[in-house]
Amino acid sequence: MTITSTNPATGQLIKEFEELSGDQIEKKLAAASLAFDSFRKSSFSMRAQWLMRTADLLESSSQRLGEVITLEMGKPIKASIAEVLKCATVCRYYAEHGQGLLRDEAVTTSARQSFIRYEPLGVVLAVMPWNFPFWQVFRFAAPTLMAGNVALLKHASNVPQCALAIEEVFRDAGLPAAVFQTLLIGSEPVARLLQDRRIKAATLTGSEAAGRSLAENAGKALKKVVLELGGSDPFIVMPSANLEMAVETAIKARTVNSGQSCIAAKRFIILEEIADEFLSSFVSGMSALKTGDPMDEANQIGPLATPQILEDVDKQVRDSVAAGAKILTGGRVTAGPGNYYEPTVLSDIPRAAPAWSAEIFGPVASVFRVKSIDEAIDLANDSDFGLGASVWTNDETEQRRFIDEIESGQVFVNAMVASDPRMPFGGVKNSGYGRELGVAGIREFVNTKTVWIGSGPKNDRTE
Ligand code: NAP
Repeated sequence: MTITSTNPATGQLIKEFEELSGDQIEKKLAAASLAFDSFRKSSFSMRAQWLMRTADLLESSSQRLGEVITLEMGKPIKASIAEVLKCATVCRYYAEHGQGLLRDEAVTTSARQSFIRYEPLGVVLAVMPWNFPFWQVFRFAAPTLMAGNVALLKHASNVPQCALAIEEVFRDAGLPAAVFQTLLIGSEPVARLLQDRRIKAATLTGSEAAGRSLAENAGKALKKVVLELGGSDPFIVMPSANLEMAVETAIKARTVNSGQSCIAAKRFIILEEIADEFLSSFVSGMSALKTGDPMDEANQIGPLATPQILEDVDKQVRDSVAAGAKILTGGRVTAGPGNYYEPTVLSDIPRAAPAWSAEIFGPVASVFRVKSIDEAIDLANDSDFGLGASVWTNDETEQRRFIDEIESGQVFVNAMVASDPRMPFGGVKNSGYGRELGVAGIREFVNTKTVWIGSGPKNDRTE
């Protein structure tokens, strides 16, 4: 199979790559396994230095790397550069805190000494998506490498140049050979790789279907898996909210990454008494967004990453309208080259419509009117997904109810859902399981080893 890099803004082929052969995959896997034998013994301070150098390189090359992202998946250039810079922050966070987060933990028991030790597992396979082609990889790689594991990246097939650029950054930062390697492969060899004894665990960020497939194959081999899957996040606005700020954030939250974000707000649930006011500003704000060439800093929305995504978004909107939904703005593929779709707002959405709760991976907002906080919470939870939720209210009782009752991996009050290296990130229900980032993220791919010493000298690493 040929892996191709295509510019979504023009449809032009940029570069083609031959998929790795079975022999080439075997060589990389053998090298990764060998690399783990010595990398696991490297000190935390050495790993921290490699991550710090990686962060320096990301910062000094952010313009060039940002252009690789934009060229290959169409994200507006300012957002691409910001993504590269955010990758530097996660490298620095784990460089500074990784050792502390994995330090031996003393536990008082009847033993002379007992403690918990966190040890790396070995080679971890990461299957990653194209939508944040640097950030998704770094938020896995920084904690995983800091813990002493070795990484194999199978990136999405439409971002091979990003995958190679990331490998190059780690190499230039001085990371030992084969500690981080890119496998230019499609999804087909993944099932076989998961059965290989040298691969100890896997993580996948992507669609529900891909997550199910990876979990099934990893399950057959009894391998640990972390899954970061889709979302159809609610964005709830109550009458006590600062409406101006809520509208401004709603537009940003729905159109971040041209609408192609798992944690983009997708279902806007508005209390009846403020719905008309919210909608009039929201619709005019959405229709005023500048869509066009993502290399032009003035544009806020770029093309969707592939023609298939454009087709899927268009079909979901058309099916929703056929089911009875109304278009308040947008609703069309933009004429001309490139995968552009108009920023769109849908209302009066019946339950049978895809826009009710399916994930629409483009700049399409579904708006619902509700009469009470109970109805808002019920509607927010009426989804197979449970990734994030953004709720807007200045009433403390309402804030507590949302925090307590919304079924999701994260609740943001009067703020947009976003990831932060210091806080765990992940979902419940069909949005996946396991966590990235924070303390939880660095403890996913480790052996949490119980050590019990009945007699003999104390272990002086315990604190
Ligand atoms: P996708 O089609 O599932 O692809 C994601 C990755 O999985 C790609 O590397 C893909 O490889 C691979 N893949 C696909 N099918 C596979 C299979 N059967 N076995 C093993 N690997 C397989 O997802 P996408 O459409 O590119 O990405 C969008 C989805 O990702 C959305 O649902 C979005 O919400 C989700 N996402 C979630 C998070 C989160 O943190 N929760 C973050 C970002 C995105 P190929 O490209 O070679 O097919």
